[in-house]
Amino acid sequence: MTTRTHSPLRQAQDTAKARGAKTFSFHEPCINGHSALRYATNGNCTQCIALHNRNRYGKPDHERQLRLTYANGKLAQITQDAATLADARASKDSVREITGRQPSLSLLHKAGLRLLTTYLGNAPAASTVMALFS
Ligand SMILES: [Zn+2]
Repeated sequence: MTTRTHSPLRQAQDTAKARGAKTFSFHEPCINGHSALRYATNGNCTQCIALHNRNRYGKPDHERQLRLTYANGKLAQITQDAATLADARASKDSVREITGRQPSLSLLHKAGLRLLTTYLGNAPAASTVMALFS
């Protein structure tokens, strides 16, 4: 008999909690078919929770404001367009595949600025730089 205590999901959740991890991966997709990480605190699918939180505010993804906190504690809000949102998703997925962890948007923002600094340090042609900002 499978009880809540002995279900594979619960066992994976308990193992993750014991490791001190906030999230863990589980071999079965969630009830909505996501293969996303699960929260160690309750076993919920991180993608389902993200969608739920997004829907609470009733705005389509491209109208959402991205909130980033500067080092001085001030908050910046950036409205994402569809292309930027697609870039963010692709980057998040790639980083998650490589690191096994879900990167935050502010971490992606930091990494993006670091890459831009490196890129601009290599003296690219003005036309290629302009293309980035069109
Ligand atoms: Zn889900």
